[in-house]
Amino acid sequence: MEMIKAPRGTRDVLGDESWKWAHVLKVCGEVARDFGFREILLPIFEHTELFCRGIGDATDIVEKEMYTFLDKGDRSITLRPELTASMMRSYVEHDMNRLPQPLKLWGWGPMFRYERPQKGRYRQFYQVDFEIIGVPSPLADLETIDTSMEIYRRLGLSNLQVLINSVGCPKCRPVYREVLKQFIADRLGDFCETCQNRFDRNPLRVLDCKNPGCKELTENAPSMIDSLCEECREHFDTVTDGLNRIGADVRVDNRLVRGLDYYTKTAYEILAGELGAQNAMCGGGRYDNLAEAIGGPHVPGVGFASGIERIVITMEGQNAYPGEAPKTDVFVVTATPGASTDAAVLVHNLRSAGLSADMDFTGRAMKAQMKLASQIGARFVCILGEDEIKSGTVGIKDMTTGEQESVARKDASAHLAVALTGNPHK
Ligand code: ATP
Ligand code: MG
Repeated sequence: MEMIKAPRGTRDVLGDESWKWAHVLKVCGEVARDFGFREILLPIFEHTELFCRGIGDATDIVEKEMYTFLDKGDRSITLRPELTASMMRSYVEHDMNRLPQPLKLWGWGPMFRYERPQKGRYRQFYQVDFEIIGVPSPLADLETIDTSMEIYRRLGLSNLQVLINSVGCPKCRPVYREVLKQFIADRLGDFCETCQNRFDRNPLRVLDCKNPGCKELTENAPSMIDSLCEECREHFDTVTDGLNRIGADVRVDNRLVRGLDYYTKTAYEILAGELGAQNAMCGGGRYDNLAEAIGGPHVPGVGFASGIERIVITMEGQNAYPGEAPKTDVFVVTATPGASTDAAVLVHNLRSAGLSADMDFTGRAMKAQMKLASQIGARFVCILGEDEIKSGTVGIKDMTTGEQESVARKDASAHLAVALTGNPHK
């Protein structure tokens, strides 16, 4: 029978990689705490309507990429393609506007988009997502970018570039829309079919098209920054000035419009060279019209999402691992079959004392057990032979120096903890 494989665009994160993910999430949690973000856990599926209204019909995500199905109750359900819309839904649904503002929320988990799988692009992928909801201040925009940069800094990443733009507000965007439409209209026939379709509905989207031909055609498109109203211009200047003052490598990219319709004012991406074609490690911006689009009151917000796969790829590309994969501290070896239960008890006691400990379960000969201990990188080996069983001791071998000594078994945990950490209670 043919072997069943994982669906296209999904991947198994195996043991040699998963510890890196745990490290990324640990750092995200620490940065969240230091910056005042609280974690929230949201459903993986939502009503399709949430994304149609919250992301916008004329976007790649809604037009082409959603995993949508009818459930057994004939409701249209979509596997979430991103977290921002769900975050805002939750904020509105739980009347979080009654709490002191802003609300700083973060979350993470799998997202789903039907895309063409490539390096750094999958159909099920993972994001960490940070949002500051409830305040219009440009300093909140600055803080979200600072949050992401601090996560990357603590992960040991460097050479990251912030691309920033403003997509204006309902006051000034229509002005730019017309300017841009005039620019595109002359050569509309040369654009791809999707762009031609979007030309009337949402011409800004044309700037976001990944098609190389369309990219070239919009190379010299007029800049949104030149059309901003005074309020949006001031907002933009405060964010960019702040970024310069915290030492970020910032470049204004007037074609950056992001794939999502609810964005207002600030739009940004953070790029890492190691990612190749999929070079965006993070995408974010302000979305002051999202809450109303999904049927809530007016609630400003700003935030970003960063792909965990792309963070890990960048860490690997930059050799940026603080520490190494978790290893076993102690491996317990039996020199006689009669010692195996004693070994299990010793392993139990070592683990209760906070050490990582393991043993053989397959009846390997002593030599093979020693080999296994060194293969898994154990720092110490505890040896239990007939003499040790009789005398209530254990032989402790330091695998780096090769030195061996005999210790009373009841003192083994404290002895090893001191050897490993300098402290008798690990
Ligand atoms: P891209 O331009 O690469 O398609 P996007 O603009 O669609 O990205 P966002 O919706 O802003 O991306 O998502 C934020 C981040 O999530 C991206 O910067 C990236 O790190 C990650 N991401 C998005 N789509 C995928 C995917 N299909 N596979 C892996 N990571 C992804
Ligand atoms: Mg995309």
